[in-house]
Amino acid sequence: MKLGFNEATCMKNSTLEQDLELLEKHGYDYIEIRLDMLADYLKNHTLDDLKDFFDTHHLKPYGFNSIENINFCGPVGWKALVDLVSFACQASTVIGGKCLVVVPTMGPTMKDRTTDEVFQDSVDVLRRLSGLVEPYGMRLAFEPIGDPRWCVRTVEEALRIVEEVGRENVGLAIDAFNLFMYSRLADIDSLDQVPGEKVFVLHIDDADDLPLGVLDHSHRTFPGNGVIPLAALVHKLKARGYDDICSLELFNPGYWELAAEDVIRIGADKTRAFL
Ligand code: ZN
Repeated sequence: MKLGFNEATCMKNSTLEQDLELLEKHGYDYIEIRLDMLADYLKNHTLDDLKDFFDTHHLKPYGFNSIENINFCGPVGWKALVDLVSFACQASTVIGGKCLVVVPTMGPTMKDRTTDEVFQDSVDVLRRLSGLVEPYGMRLAFEPIGDPRWCVRTVEEALRIVEEVGRENVGLAIDAFNLFMYSRLADIDSLDQVPGEKVFVLHIDDADDLPLGVLDHSHRTFPGNGVIPLAALVHKLKARGYDDICSLELFNPGYWELAAEDVIRIGADKTRAFL
């Protein structure tokens, strides 16, 4: 697999401009660009500046993160989604990067929605988003999140939705930590059912050994430092034919206290062990 970096990892102690330099220096192949960090970058730069960087360096853009809360949005929410999707698509036409991560809605009422409601809404909204991004050659990676606050929590459910959507440009984002939050990966064999070509991105991260309900995104640790069976997870995806980006994605406030270069250097070493 290819070594990737999701900008959430250093979102509070770096910038897009700094990430580019440090990722190149430490041998990363891909960056997943955060749209808020791209917007900040564009206050003092242009998309052509970014294109020049990628044209002259090994590091390449893989795609953009993330479009969140895509379910059950009213007209105002939908307009905001479309604006953000359009921003990502327009950036991709200049710099490249053809994978847009889309995330189910989170909130205190999501647990009250029925499986059928969530299924129907997800299929509907993903088809509409698929149509929006298709002219740009963009792919949508739908990312289940195991915590009960999110409305699509498992790979099985997300795969059923993606298969019903039935569009070539709609697939899955597999995030080790997000799967672990559902049942500590007791359901890891569900990955055996996922067609490799429907995995559009792999987010790699480990977890502190905490009980479900306590475990939260702040407990994401470097790969190999926690209790997620990452080697087994990566092996299963490879067996299904997935051989693309393996992208380090941490949301750990402790790491935001460190120098970004330390996080990026250690992250590269730790992630390479699983490629
Ligand atoms: Zn993720």
